[in-house]
Amino acid sequence: MNESKGAVATPLCGAGGGHAPAREVLLNPGPVNVSTRVQRALLRGDLCHREPEFARLMTSVRRQLEKAFAPSSTHTSVLLTGSGTSAVEAAIMGAVSPGRKLAVVTNGVYGERIAEIARRQGIGVVAIAPDPKTNLARFETAAPPTWTAIPTRDQVVKALEDPEVEAFAAVHHETTTGLLNPIREWGPLARARGKTFVLDSVSGLAGDAIDLEGWGADIVCGTANKCIQGLPGISFVLARPREIERMRARPPRALYFDLPKAWDAQEKGAPAFTMAVQVLFAFEAALEELLEETVAGRIARMARVANLLRDGFKEVGLELLLPAEVRSNTITTLALPARLTYARLHDRLKGKGFVIYAGQGGLEKTVFRVANMGALGEDDFRGFLAALRASLSEGACP
Ligand SMILES: *Cc1c(COP(=O)(O)O)cnc(C)c1O
Repeated sequence: MNESKGAVATPLCGAGGGHAPAREVLLNPGPVNVSTRVQRALLRGDLCHREPEFARLMTSVRRQLEKAFAPSSTHTSVLLTGSGTSAVEAAIMGAVSPGRKLAVVTNGVYGERIAEIARRQGIGVVAIAPDPKTNLARFETAAPPTWTAIPTRDQVVKALEDPEVEAFAAVHHETTTGLLNPIREWGPLARARGKTFVLDSVSGLAGDAIDLEGWGADIVCGTANKCIQGLPGISFVLARPREIERMRARPPRALYFDLPKAWDAQEKGAPAFTMAVQVLFAFEAALEELLEETVAGRIARMARVANLLRDGFKEVGLELLLPAEVRSNTITTLALPARLTYARLHDRLKGKGFVIYAGQGGLEKTVFRVANMGALGEDDFRGFLAALRASLSEGACP
C-alpha cells in the first residue's frame, strides 16, 4: 500500500482514511473548480435584489452572456435561480403549445430527461432514438446501446415532418458519455421545417464550439457552473426575441418557470423572484474571465487538456468508450480496469486529492468519467495522471 505523503492516516485499502486534502481537483462535469477571483466575488457583501446595484449586476451578467455566445445580438438572455435542469425545464415548458408535440433526440440521460420533462407537462413526445445497430461503443457496457450512438439525418427529418411537432430538442454535449451530437447538421433541418430548435448546451457552452445563429439554435440552455467556471445556483436561457414572443402567446404552464415573465422583469431591471445574489456576483466575475480568455480560447484550452489526459490514458492502457470523432473537449469516459471497482478507484484517487465521476444507469459498473472543465492548470492534470498511475498499480485489495 502506498497511500503516501502522510495524507492518509490508515492505509484502508485506498479508502482515503477520512483525511481530506485542502484543495480537491474536481474531475466531475460541474460544479467545477473556480478561480480565486470568482470565489472572492462571493464576498462583495449583502445586497437587496430590488436596488439599482442589483439591476446593474443582472444586466452586466446578461450582456456578457449575450456577448460571449450570441455576438451578433441574435439572442437575448433570461437568468434563473436554479441548476441547469431548471433552464431546460423552463425552455421546454415554453416552447410547445397545448396539443402540439416535441421531437427529442434521446441518446443519453439528458436527452431522456428532456423527454421526461415534456411528458410530465402533458406534452406529446416523438422520441428520436438511434438504431442500436449503429452503436459506436468500443467496449461492452450494460448501458442501452442508444446511449453511444447518433440518430441518422433521415430519422431526424422523419420526426420533424410530423405536422403535430412544433419544436425539436437535442442535447449538444451528452454528458452521460461525453458524446457530441451533430447539432450543426440538425439545426438547419429544424429551421427548414419551421420548428423551434431547443438546445440543451448546459455542458457544451464554452467547452465545445457552437454557433447559435449559424446552426439555427433558437432557444439554448446553459448554466454558470460548468465550462463558464462560475458557481452553482444560476442557470440561463438564450433565446431569439421571436421565441420569447411565441412563448408569451402560449398559456403559461408554470409561474416560476414562465420565461416571458422572467424576461420582462429582467428587462425592467428587477428579477421576478429573489435571485441568488452572491452567486450572481461570482457569475459576473466568471464571465469577465471568460471574455478575457475569449470563448475560442477557453474551448481551445479544454481541447488541449483533454488531449493531454487522453494521451496519458493511452499510456496507462485505459480504453476510451467513444471513438475520437464524437468525443467532446471536456469529458472522457473510460473502461474500469477489470480488477478495480469504481468505488475503490474513486476512493484511492480522492485520497490523493482528485474527484472522478461515476457512470450513470447501466454504465456505473463498467466505466468512470473524467471531466476537464474548470479553472485547472496543466499541472493539475499531470498530477492526476500520476495519481491515476499510482492508483492502478496499487493492486486489488482482499
Ligand atoms: C449538467 C447538465 C444538466 C443540468 O444538470 P443540473 O444538475 O440540473 O445542473 C443538463 N443537461 C446536461 C447535458 C448537463 O450536462
